[in-house]
Amino acid sequence: MNYLTHLECSFCRKEHDADRLQTLCNNCGKPLLARYDIDGLKKKSRRALVTGEPSMWRYRAVFPVREEQYEVNLGEGLTPLVPASRLGRKLGLSNLFIKDESQNPTGSFKARGLSMAVSKAWELGADGFVIPSAGNAAGALSAYAARAGLDARVFMPDTVPAPFRNECEALGARVTLVKGLITDCGVESRRVANEKGLFDVSTLKEPYRLEGKKTLGYELAEQFGWELPDVIIYPTGGGTGLVGMWKAFDEMEKLGWISGTRPRMVVVQSDGCAPVVRAFDSGSESAEPWENPHTVAEGIQVPSAVGDFLILKAVRESRGTAVSVSDEFIIRDQMQMSRMEGISCCPEGGATLSALKSLLSDGWISSGESVVIFNTGTGLKYPGVFNGIIQR
Ligand SMILES: *Cc1c(COP(=O)(O)O)cnc(C)c1O
Repeated sequence: MNYLTHLECSFCRKEHDADRLQTLCNNCGKPLLARYDIDGLKKKSRRALVTGEPSMWRYRAVFPVREEQYEVNLGEGLTPLVPASRLGRKLGLSNLFIKDESQNPTGSFKARGLSMAVSKAWELGADGFVIPSAGNAAGALSAYAARAGLDARVFMPDTVPAPFRNECEALGARVTLVKGLITDCGVESRRVANEKGLFDVSTLKEPYRLEGKKTLGYELAEQFGWELPDVIIYPTGGGTGLVGMWKAFDEMEKLGWISGTRPRMVVVQSDGCAPVVRAFDSGSESAEPWENPHTVAEGIQVPSAVGDFLILKAVRESRGTAVSVSDEFIIRDQMQMSRMEGISCCPEGGATLSALKSLLSDGWISSGESVVIFNTGTGLKYPGVFNGIIQR
């Protein structure tokens, strides 16, 4: 039983056929969102709809994939929500949690989105994929394409740490290193996709990675006993996780699975690349591209995001905020999270701790509130940073 009804443009609201491979809206060029038969779903209880499977596929009732044979599953999701009591005590917070996404296949939360995107595109007939990536998305695509027996071509900046590249090659993807930034990788991957007839799974340029990332929101709700924390701090690049969680909260409210106040959503970016923070501060509805981006947290080095307006809307609707933090603090806090909680923290994870500290000192977060910070990937793939030596 599958409840997908159609796709809807996130901007102009035009409806699109959900049983054809779609990219961006053909009317306005903005991202498409998957929509479900909420009334149909409501005929069943949450208990009946959420299975006991130990992966994100426990929420398949609200997924787009119709046939189980196309589910490309490596056990992604259902990652631990770690109570960070030592760190919390140090910061004077009694309810601090780390959602530890380093435990996903290929070591990052990109697994969620790419598991879903490869599954659905495969069901709709795609047989090969391209992706521009700072590293983690490329590794995840390589794994899911390999598991489905499909082709993957990945495009990463030539400055990418070697473990990312090695992993993609080991998983059988064709790797192209591009001189330049992720945006240059995007240009090159689009060119190859058009030439070879491959499906482009760039962030928010197809509707299904978001459906994988939204499971972060379903999981947090379930792990908190179908309640939600007061504050969620998210390291934001393309913003799929944040937009996905917001969509999940919306769906769960409509389904009657949760009620009450939603969390305040916090965007964290690096001082060296903070287009969403700048747009938030200036009150604009979309973000101007960031010139000369640089940060050790390469997963959030995204100078221009297709879903900028969706990120800003979610943050404002949630009464949240957007903060940028320095690379120096990112590295300090990456180490601190690792050492105080025993988690292999990546720089992007460190950034969420830096943002938390800054919001505590501003009084924007108070000591009794429940707060979730994210460790979005393993620290293992950033050897330079882990040795205390910043590469580049
Ligand atoms: C991609 C990535 C991010 C940013 O995620 P978005 O959902 O694209 O904003 C954060 N951290 C890591 C480790 C990443 O790989």
